[in-house]
Amino acid sequence: MASVPDCIFCKIVRGEAPAHRVCEDERTLAFMDIFPVTDGHTLVITKDHFENVFEADEDALAAIARTSHRVAAAIKSELAPDGLMVFQLNGQAAGQTVFHYHMHLMPRASGEPLALHTRVPGVPARMAELAAKLARALVLVLALAHSGCFTPASIRQEREGWKNEWNARVTGAKSDWENPCATKPFIAWADPFLASCPEDSKLDECRARRDWVEDRVAQCRDWTAWQLRNFNQHQRTEGTAPSVLID
Ligand code: 5GP
Ligand code: ZN
Repeated sequence: MASVPDCIFCKIVRGEAPAHRVCEDERTLAFMDIFPVTDGHTLVITKDHFENVFEADEDALAAIARTSHRVAAAIKSELAPDGLMVFQLNGQAAGQTVFHYHMHLMPRASGEPLALHTRVPGVPARMAELAAKLARALVLVLALAHSGCFTPASIRQEREGWKNEWNARVTGAKSDWENPCATKPFIAWADPFLASCPEDSKLDECRARRDWVEDRVAQCRDWTAWQLRNFNQHQRTEGTAPSVLID
């Protein structure tokens, strides 16, 4: 991977400089801008070092577009801004200040004066909170993208549906994994999540959910197998108590 020793964004990619990370894939990384012009100002960068649009290859640009589309959906879902500016600058004359290709995603409020930069640093606690919020929304975005039914416009509604479904299962209000007839839909529901939620996620919450879904899927499979052996009997296998709620 093309990396430049003294480039600040390359350092963030290599984990040598801190950043409030939102998500990453093979080619891109998203994190909060350290001098946010508006609340939620996020950057999406290529992991490879390209100075600007003239140097970047098409695959890198396509990867940036895909990640920006997904992060935009997360911003819309979590922050519901009046508008969202998505832009990038090339060369000093265009206002570029970090010479490593990146896209800005800047939520905008109606009537707010337009600005591209500020030198006022963001409040670290707020940036950490925003990064965690966006990362959480992206778990769903990625699950939907993986299963081929992701549309940014519907993400807020999908998130509510997902949250209610998840929390109902976690609190036991919906206990249909105890019913063998419902194990198949549950596994179908869990599969896209497991396929999209990265195993090596650095987000504790994501990891906790992943572990919990895996336990539950294993329990469903055991239960189905037990049922097949003892059909017409009603006895429930004990599983790990679910505890992770989505807020
Ligand atoms: P440009 O002017 O090159 O389009 O945007 C560079 C952006 O990177 C600016 O909005 C600036 O605030 C942000 N930035 C500069 N240094 C850092 C840094 O060390 N960490 C983070 N997270 N953002 C940075
Ligand atoms: Zn770089």
